[in-house]
Amino acid sequence: MDCLFCRIIRGEIAAKKVYEDDQVFAFHDVNPQAPVHILIVPKKHFAGLPQAQAEDAEVIGHSHLVAAKLGRELGIDHGYRTVYNVGPDSGQSVFHLHLHLIGGRKMSWPPG
Ligand code: 5GP
Ligand code: ZN
Repeated sequence: MDCLFCRIIRGEIAAKKVYEDDQVFAFHDVNPQAPVHILIVPKKHFAGLPQAQAEDAEVIGHSHLVAAKLGRELGIDHGYRTVYNVGPDSGQSVFHLHLHLIGGRKMSWPPG
């Protein structure tokens, strides 16, 4: 598969890995929007939330538990965002589901 994140998971493209288990691969975003900006990516390829199947419920929930664990370990528990960009109008640019974990600075609401 020619998918960028599948290639990162397979080690064909370098990334700064922060966590891996049997279900997900997590690495630093190459263009961070905050002091901490990590992408948590299911090892199974699917394009995004609209393409998720019932069998993907576990990895979607697990991704958030990994975000909470990394948030604790990285010391950003006082405030972070977990974000799925869904579809072109949201800014989604890589069509392999990924959860953004963004923190380490004060953030405004609503998001842009
Ligand atoms: P999206 O816009 O699809 O929600 O998020 C894609 C993210 O992937 C962006 O924040 C972008 O900076 C990041 N990204 C794109 N290409 C690479 C890459 O080659 N390596 C890493 N580590 N991040 C990437
Ligand atoms: Zn992929």
